[in-house]
Amino acid sequence: MAKYKLEYIWLDGYEPVPNLRGKTQIKEFDAFPKLEQLPLWNFDGSSTRQAEGRSSDCVLKPVAIYPDSTRKNGALVMCEVMMPDGKTPHPSNSRATILDDPGAWFGFEQEYFLYQDGVPLGFPKGGGFPFPQGEYYTGVGYKNVGDVAREIVEEHLDLCLDAGINHEGINAEVAKGQWEFQIFGKGSKNAADQVWVARYLMMRLCEKYQVDIVWHCKPLGKDVDWNGSGMHSNFSTTHLREVGGKEYFEALMAAFDKYKNEHIAVYGPDNHLRLTGLHETQSIDKFNYGVANRGASIRVPHSFVNNGYKGYLEDRRPNSQADPYKIASRILQTIATVPTK
Ligand code: ADP
Ligand code: MN
Ligand code: MN
Ligand code: MN
Repeated sequence: MAKYKLEYIWLDGYEPVPNLRGKTQIKEFDAFPKLEQLPLWNFDGSSTRQAEGRSSDCVLKPVAIYPDSTRKNGALVMCEVMMPDGKTPHPSNSRATILDDPGAWFGFEQEYFLYQDGVPLGFPKGGGFPFPQGEYYTGVGYKNVGDVAREIVEEHLDLCLDAGINHEGINAEVAKGQWEFQIFGKGSKNAADQVWVARYLMMRLCEKYQVDIVWHCKPLGKDVDWNGSGMHSNFSTTHLREVGGKEYFEALMAAFDKYKNEHIAVYGPDNHLRLTGLHETQSIDKFNYGVANRGASIRVPHSFVNNGYKGYLEDRRPNSQADPYKIASRILQTIATVPTK
């Protein structure tokens, strides 16, 4: 028997985007626990905008568990927030709205800024700007990435791989102090769970560096020539991968057009600052798609067309601060409106 440190992680009730919360409970197990062995737990919802003071208990329901290599016998336990009955999803529980579909695959490209003392890492502390954008994207060398960003990013990658998170890659991004990681998962909820846990690990790791992560989509504002942050969402279903076809694809894109406002509503706050039609984006009020078109709402990879309109598609509109549960939920809801015959 060993005592395990179980970090129960959940999303609070803040709007328009939730914060990550976590607290530890110690439980004894023979070996690293399985999900089914983890008990429900509760927390004070009045401190997280999830309940009134008088009846403040909310319930944490474990939905995924990952090893935490920073702690002896540590585990990260992703949870859904439930009502006091333990069965009804809390209104803030966006994960519970995702259709169950083991054939749905998502790949999220999470962009973010590392910030210190109110400016992106590598920006002059007293105000002003570093060299304009150009060499930072996938760059190397002190003048491009500074002295500590890569250390953070590499350490984060190892923590995520230790946890079993399915990172597919990392890269330095277009703005100084801006980076990206990509996570892919099969099953409608897996990639989104892993993005939230990867965000948690990144924020926790950066405490000791006195660095904060800024997830906002346009932290430097829209009037300067500095890129914003997105979370391109790549998706496919069994039908898209195995049947597809031009007719189905066109019907699907018509549905995405029809529901464009519903999509934008869950693609992250302040997206009008980022989806301007500049910096490889389509403007927020338009929907279009295009083969290999990085200025489109949905980019259709060359491989998709070459394979007879089969494969995955990339929705480029979601931003870096969006809730991947809400993104996955909305995409699957729109797909479900299109008959597969
Ligand atoms: P880019 O920056 O050119 O848009 P990335 O390599 O950063 O491309 O991201 C593409 C992502 O597409 C990959 O990280 C992967 O997660 C995702 N992906 C690949 N194949 C599929 C698929 N069949 N279904 C869903 N997502 C996929
Ligand atoms: Mn990418
Ligand atoms: Mn990118
Ligand atoms: Mn992309």
